Amino acid sequence: AQEKGAGLLEPVILPNVKKVVAILSGKGGVGKSTVTSLLACEFARRNFKVGILDADVTGPSIPKLFGVNKKLEVKNDKLQPATTKLGIKVVSLNLLLPSEDDPVIWRGPMLSKVIKEFWEQVDWGELDYLFIDLPPGTSDVVITVFQSIPVEGAIVVTTPQDLASLIVKKSMKMVKRVKNGKLLGIVENMSYFVCPDNQKEYYIFGASKVEKIAMEYGIEVLAKVPIDPIMVQMADEGKIEEYTKNIFSHVKF
Ligand code: ADP
Repeated sequence: AQEKGAGLLEPVILPNVKKVVAILSGKGGVGKSTVTSLLACEFARRNFKVGILDADVTGPSIPKLFGVNKKLEVKNDKLQPATTKLGIKVVSLNLLLPSEDDPVIWRGPMLSKVIKEFWEQVDWGELDYLFIDLPPGTSDVVITVFQSIPVEGAIVVTTPQDLASLIVKKSMKMVKRVKNGKLLGIVENMSYFVCPDNQKEYYIFGASKVEKIAMEYGIEVLAKVPIDPIMVQMADEGKIEEYTKNIFSHVKF
């Protein structure tokens, strides 16, 4: 990255990567990685060239969701991404650690350096969409991503229990750090449960608040995702690509 006037870092542009979309959440365990994966699958099924940069160093779970575990190789000084069944290119810290269950014990600056390398030193090739699975909250790594990668769009994942309004506000601030960056919308995950016996929708965590928040901030509700045990099973088996409920089939950006 080149240093500019006031010491601000300018993101490095990769001309072959058309659109970078980052997925944010206020806290862990709300389904951010699952949503990232399902979005990537949706766009890959539409025949776009798709990549996922797993920046969630707090628990890099993307490889597991796709059942990829081959260590990444370096060719001509560039890290080669793993490729999933649908042809999604994946880069994750988990594919570099000697063993999948090794803890990540690096400190902020080291992690930030790795994330920058995941952008600049990876042979991403041509991509229509690169999805970035961010760590929850607003840690060093999140700030690094918004400073050093030209993120065009951000998506916030919440659950009905979250302080969604606060997370949306923080995310809007993050996105403003990037030239042309905007909040593409909000996904409410684990929004409700559809009882298999009577097809009735139950709002287990209370009524959904996401429409009100979306209206207040002038953003779109991209989806309300139900609690789905089948999704969990597919995720656990590394077969997220085989989950074909059309949650994001209407989504365009
Ligand atoms: P995060 O990336 O926010 O930490 P994950 O995507 O890893 O969250 O999801 C946390 C857990 O919740 C996982 O076990 C995942 O399978 C489960 N999960 C996510 N979304 C749903 C859903 N809609 N229904 C049921 N379980 C879900």
